[in-house]
Amino acid sequence: MTPNDLPSLRETLDAHGLLAKKSFGQHFLLDLNVTRKIVRLAGPFEGRAVIEVGPGPGGLTRALLESDAGTVVLVEKDPRFLPLLGELDDGSGRLTVVEADALGVREAELVEGPAHIVSNLPYNVGTPLLIKWLTGPWTPHALTLMFQKEVAERITAAPGDEAYGRLAVISQAVCEAKLVMHLPAAAFTPPPKVASAVVHLVPRADRPDQDLLKALERVTAAAFGQRRKMLRSSLKPLGGAALCEAAGLSPEDRAEVIDLAGFLRLARAVAGQPQPAAPGDGGATMMRRKRG
Ligand code: SAM
Repeated sequence: MTPNDLPSLRETLDAHGLLAKKSFGQHFLLDLNVTRKIVRLAGPFEGRAVIEVGPGPGGLTRALLESDAGTVVLVEKDPRFLPLLGELDDGSGRLTVVEADALGVREAELVEGPAHIVSNLPYNVGTPLLIKWLTGPWTPHALTLMFQKEVAERITAAPGDEAYGRLAVISQAVCEAKLVMHLPAAAFTPPPKVASAVVHLVPRADRPDQDLLKALERVTAAAFGQRRKMLRSSLKPLGGAALCEAAGLSPEDRAEVIDLAGFLRLARAVAGQPQPAAPGDGGATMMRRKRG
């Protein structure tokens, strides 16, 4: 059976008597033109595996099955959707449906080799899932994820942007992150209260090791925990002005103007790792400004 032979997503939901549950963050994409566009933005997959978290009625799944994905592994927490998702299985062994909470699954046990993650994420667990994929032991080949617009902006923000904070620094230290698509609330059934956006993330070859990542989490928690304060004050528990000096930053700056390279230098200083010789430190220039 090809996706074109299948009943529409709306008919499928009706046939199975399924209504969206708020507690599972269920807002469905029932327009296959939209789900195909998301899959085009995510690919090409060139035969690699794709994990989809929260397939629900399967609109994104249908588009993934039309694509060049090698295998498609679905992780769905709501058991009501399993029979409907099973109907998408053509018996070729390409599709696997797993009933599980995506926060608890070990992705390395679901797929062999590099895998993409493509998902219209449930809003209530979108950020914890992203943090798991950015900082956990398993690294995806790429991630294409739908978030509420405000979270998408926090992931892709630049220094000086209102949305710039911990999520931007951690996400961009690990991945190249780009907001690739906006979607109005009306594109979903039922519509959520806010607009959504798709972010495409590709892990960097030179992403931080686990020690550096932990130090980066501590530095960004301290710096953005008191974002209106100067670094010498907000970073006091980690070394204050001396730490800024070691990272080539002005202790009088505030977190919101420090770029990714600056935060990485602070994290290296905290982790006791050597600073790369400029300009090989991610393209940033060392700011050795003296004030007063
Ligand atoms: N992919 C479908 C679509 O685009 O129409 C549904 C997206 S809906 C926003 C989120 C889906 O994630 C729902 O199917 C929901 O049951 C599922 N879900 C919620 N929490 C989950 C979790 N912790 N692990 C796995 N799936 C979850």
